[in-house]
Amino acid sequence: MVAQINKSFGNHHVLRDVSLAVSKGEFFTLLGPSGCGKTTLLRLIAGLELPDSGSIFLGGQDVTTVPANKRQVNTVFQSYALFPHLNVLENIAFGLKARKVDPVTIKHKVDRMLETLRLSDLSKRFPSQISGGQKQRVALARALVNEPNVLLLDEPMSALDPHLRTQVQAELLELHRQIDTTFIMVTHDQGEAMFMGGHLAVMRDGQMVQMGTPREVYSRPKNKFVAEFLWGANILLATRDGDRMMTTLGPLKTDDQVSWSQGHLAIRPELIVLEDELARPKDNLVRAKVIQAIYRGASVELLLDPGPVKVVTSPRFNPQPGETVSLFIPSADLVALEGQAA
Ligand code: ATP
Repeated sequence: MVAQINKSFGNHHVLRDVSLAVSKGEFFTLLGPSGCGKTTLLRLIAGLELPDSGSIFLGGQDVTTVPANKRQVNTVFQSYALFPHLNVLENIAFGLKARKVDPVTIKHKVDRMLETLRLSDLSKRFPSQISGGQKQRVALARALVNEPNVLLLDEPMSALDPHLRTQVQAELLELHRQIDTTFIMVTHDQGEAMFMGGHLAVMRDGQMVQMGTPREVYSRPKNKFVAEFLWGANILLATRDGDRMMTTLGPLKTDDQVSWSQGHLAIRPELIVLEDELARPKDNLVRAKVIQAIYRGASVELLLDPGPVKVVTSPRFNPQPGETVSLFIPSADLVALEGQAA
């Protein structure tokens, strides 16, 4: 839907050759650190900005130069931007009234939205008289009542406290399940992007770094940035010696194809196995000393030397600082990251 987009503000090149394919009806998440260009990309899809080059397609049609109000796209902004002088019902009906839809149809559509988003009892209240989560539902209803093909959500949960956020995330997913609309959500919150499922794209400095399902991106990060940005994997500097990778942990084998002579390997802390959890394997067995052990209830987090390597394991284990443990690093989970190390 987005093909080789470039966008600059002055001499600041904000988006570089960005391409993105989102399937109809999908929940797609754009994830990246602050300032990487996520909102700009959303604004281009909405038609609120024009690209310097590249094309935008919606439903197979090139809409690159089609004005925002002629695209079947609605946006829910970070601030919700509700009209303070209109009540909930009037806020939701606003777009349909502006388009001079007949009053009977407006009533029917608005009532349905109030019901879907559980707002019927609040329809006469003003934005100042409802909670943050309720405001967010009104903003969603106001966008969805226009029956857009694509709903754009710019950090829709950022104004909510952590507890409410979890609840609203689940509600948003449920809403998406009920309707046949493509959702594209921007977030800088890794947990939120993983939770929403569907596909996600990781952006950095105006470029797409990796796209895939949360499982693909988390378990097979393409490079150091993705491996670290999605909850810090262990990154090991390695020198290739035939099929063995020489690392600070000793020689390790990976199932991946390795293209460099010196580069980086990544292993998730929870995929390292404490040796007595398994029958003793031959390869990829490492002896390490516990520096720190943090009991987290559902898991135990170990910081180990050499490395330092982080391991997350079952709370059945209770190793103490100073103790030596054996680790097994499954070759299938040891990811060879792109790029030759300097
Ligand atoms: P955040 O998560 O903080 O909202 P973001 O990834 O959404 O960040 P954008 O808002 O797209 O990032 O901004 C990307 C870059 O473009 C930033 O450096 C920003 O300052 C710049 N930028 C965005 N809009 C404009 C504009 N209208 N004029 C000049 N620079 C802009």
